[in-house]
Amino acid sequence: MDSICIQNQHKNVLLVTLAAQGHVNPILRLGNLLVSKGLHVTLAINHYALKHRSPTTHTTTVGGGIHLEFFSDGLPIDYNRKADIDYYLDSLSKFGPVNLLAFIRSHPRKFACIINTPFVPWAADVAATVGVPTAMLWIQPCSLYQIYYRYYNMLDEFPTESNPNVSVKLPGLPVFAAEELPSFVLPTNTFRSFYNILKELFTNTCKVKWVLGNSFMELEKDVIMSLNDGGRVFLPVGPLVPATLIGKEEEVDFDLFGSDVKSNNCMEWLNIQKPSSVVYISFGSILNLSNKEIESIAVGLKNIKRPFLWVIRPPENQELPELGCLEEIKEQGLIVKWSPQTFVLSHPSVGCFLSHCGWNSLLESLAAGVPVIACPQWTDQPTNCKLVTDVWGVGVKLKKSSEGLVNGEELGRCVEEIMSGPKSEEFKKNAAELKTAAREALADGGSSDKNIQMFVNEMISSSIFKPK
Ligand code: UDP
Repeated sequence: MDSICIQNQHKNVLLVTLAAQGHVNPILRLGNLLVSKGLHVTLAINHYALKHRSPTTHTTTVGGGIHLEFFSDGLPIDYNRKADIDYYLDSLSKFGPVNLLAFIRSHPRKFACIINTPFVPWAADVAATVGVPTAMLWIQPCSLYQIYYRYYNMLDEFPTESNPNVSVKLPGLPVFAAEELPSFVLPTNTFRSFYNILKELFTNTCKVKWVLGNSFMELEKDVIMSLNDGGRVFLPVGPLVPATLIGKEEEVDFDLFGSDVKSNNCMEWLNIQKPSSVVYISFGSILNLSNKEIESIAVGLKNIKRPFLWVIRPPENQELPELGCLEEIKEQGLIVKWSPQTFVLSHPSVGCFLSHCGWNSLLESLAAGVPVIACPQWTDQPTNCKLVTDVWGVGVKLKKSSEGLVNGEELGRCVEEIMSGPKSEEFKKNAAELKTAAREALADGGSSDKNIQMFVNEMISSSIFKPK
């Protein structure tokens, strides 16, 4: 293996990411595309990922031939990082750079470029130390890049403690009410480390040579055309979804939480449901629903009398709660702790997706042509929800009760509006059009395919390791 890579050092790329499913998935999928363009790809993840390795990920090669490596974030593997996210991210920023640098220096491959996800911004400093250029993979919509860039560089007025309800109008975007902005730019944000990481990133974009966006031109043209980040090259290269979702050959994701498609009964259960009948529900890989939230959703599901597939992720090392409300609806649907989501979304039995609006989930839903019931919680999700409902017209927003819970009647209203209401055909048509546009963007010669090729050509030609 590595004799080829040593001769072709100008083609070796190192991807670096935080061990979070929503970060690993897009960078791994980008890695697969780079492999298909002839690059040799290594993916480095902080040790935490080792804790969750599923039977499918015990090899050091994943996806289409990507080498998987781990570096220490300074905490023991079994340490519960979710208990104090600020402490975890502080430790990662303190120990990550040193350990990544040691890893790069001792690695048999010499890397020509480093590509990092946003929450490891220090990877750009490590790259500078070893004298190679950096690209950042932006893993949220380009609209969010615009909002953060303009917020952190103080280019527009945003909500403040003294003026919390100000609406915001930015180039290429609709007007956002305060509650439609990402939670990290609001005065109510309590997550210090997220604020600091994003600030560091957006006030120092000069450290990266390219920004690759997990989106596509046809989806966010207005905002992409109006991004002006000091002349930085911004290339949309998405949607970074598994190849199967865009009509190409199957590749395997690196699944942190251990969904083995073959051993999971989701697909068998979906096979016996009627076409477009199932409500698929997932709140992503990070959020854990409280028992109260579970109960309120269960009441809604009981009322709508439709089949559902519901992913409930219990807190780390815990089982699903034994609740009477879940017992009552168990014949109506299927409840699992984790699903093979991209396979689920492309199954013909799925009619709509009740989602927390994580960007990977939304892109997967768009690529599968599945309309969305948007139930955003925090970070980019309120803004993604606005794009889904007001810009792309592929879904409705579920309005929560004053206690922040899902109201049974409101859930019923949303499901009926999406599945059988007067606008249901329009949602399906818009979703189908975006599904086609997503495939075209990544097809040979499509907008994202051209951008990936442009990045690869530039990267190889600017590499310090010129081929002899
Ligand atoms: N996912 C999955 N099975 C599940 C729930 C989530 O495979 O049961 C995957 C999903 O396909 C997506 C990722 O986990 O790629 C979640 O990322 P997203 O950005 O949607 O949300 P986050 O987890 O970051 O909040």
